[in-house]
Amino acid sequence: VRTDPTSVSLAARLSGLDVIALGDRMYELCESLFPICRSITGDGVRRTLDILGDVVPMERHEVPSGTAVFDWTIPPEWNIRDAYVADDRGERVIDFRRSNLHVVGYSAPVRRRMSLHELRPHLHTLPDRPHAVPYRTAYYDDSWGFCLAHDALEALPDGEYEVVIDASLADGSLSYGETVIAGRSAEEVLLTAHVCHPSLANDNLSGLALLAVLGQELARVDLRYTYRLLFIPGTIGSITWLARNEAHVGAVRHGIVVSGVGDVGAASYKRSRRGDAEIDRAACHVLGTSGDDHRILDFHPYGYDERQFCSPGFNLPVGRFGRSPHSEYPEYHTSADDLAFVGDEALVEAYDAALAVLDVLEHDRPYRNLSPCGEPQLGRRGLYPTTGGQAASDTVMAMLWTLAYSDGDTPLLEIAELADLDFARLDAAAADLVGGGLLAPQ
Ligand code: ZN
Repeated sequence: VRTDPTSVSLAARLSGLDVIALGDRMYELCESLFPICRSITGDGVRRTLDILGDVVPMERHEVPSGTAVFDWTIPPEWNIRDAYVADDRGERVIDFRRSNLHVVGYSAPVRRRMSLHELRPHLHTLPDRPHAVPYRTAYYDDSWGFCLAHDALEALPDGEYEVVIDASLADGSLSYGETVIAGRSAEEVLLTAHVCHPSLANDNLSGLALLAVLGQELARVDLRYTYRLLFIPGTIGSITWLARNEAHVGAVRHGIVVSGVGDVGAASYKRSRRGDAEIDRAACHVLGTSGDDHRILDFHPYGYDERQFCSPGFNLPVGRFGRSPHSEYPEYHTSADDLAFVGDEALVEAYDAALAVLDVLEHDRPYRNLSPCGEPQLGRRGLYPTTGGQAASDTVMAMLWTLAYSDGDTPLLEIAELADLDFARLDAAAADLVGGGLLAPQ
């Protein structure tokens, strides 16, 4: 009998949850966030945080434009109402109202008539993917532009066009959301997702949906660690959070940047800059013993917010979890990264993998074998199958490995790595052995 409910896995404690309902919740969240025009600042981010905040309560932060954050400065706030290119009959040939990807993010306002020849340098297309609209941004410079399908550009006749971007770049603030779910320890697990992309589903509505629903679920159970969830604009958001929490980051024991978890590609984990932090080993172990295709990537200084968390001034144990890595799938940063590109099954699989990684963190600890002189007699305690002669099952092997290495110092994850057995199986064996009086948590 397990007297301590927290000895049971998070996955088991949350298993009352209907898997279909879980997938639907994440997918529906992607659907409701999809139409919003987000950028690194502005009302689109606030509306997004409003929707996420209905799922998982969060504290909202507004950091004024002009604030210095390490080597950066919070930029002016960008808001957009409308944008289009109209032909001489007034017909919109490029229309922000049809897709917010049509406007280069952070475009300066413009309202003038010009020839196609003059307009052309401001138009961005993908000649090798002629049906897709690219996603482009113009942060930190004073330019403007439109994005469209290459086919559509080819079909534009010469002539005069009315070019309007009804946007503002003005003093305002950068918005982000922060959720803290208190655990028994003040040591923290940092989970983050970027909130700055417009209508792109995998990058990164999938990450936002997974993180919000995961936070909602974690809040229902007793936890070892305190969980800090950040919903932040990419790069400037993580730099801003680090600048405002420099004295606090020592509490971060483990961290994961969650992005691109809704496509059908294999699960992937990018190691922290440390390379062998406990989070790296936990994630590699979970993916490695899953039996599913997966990829482990070494740290490299390009990607998402792991770049900031792992910068040498912090060197936090923060890795990145996703499915297909960014820029490795043709839909990446194009209009093809839409709601049809992500699926509820892929989201649930990613959720389960993330939860399994957190389960390792929650339960990894050394134990002491209380009967260390020779093997203890498992059968007498009802822990060994009564029919002899058969090959030891994984359950028995998990108990034998746990007993053999539980010297009071060796953490369970290290034993799982040695045994090449699923951590969850060893964790269950350890709980049984504790129940049988043969093992004590250290
Ligand atoms: Zn992106």
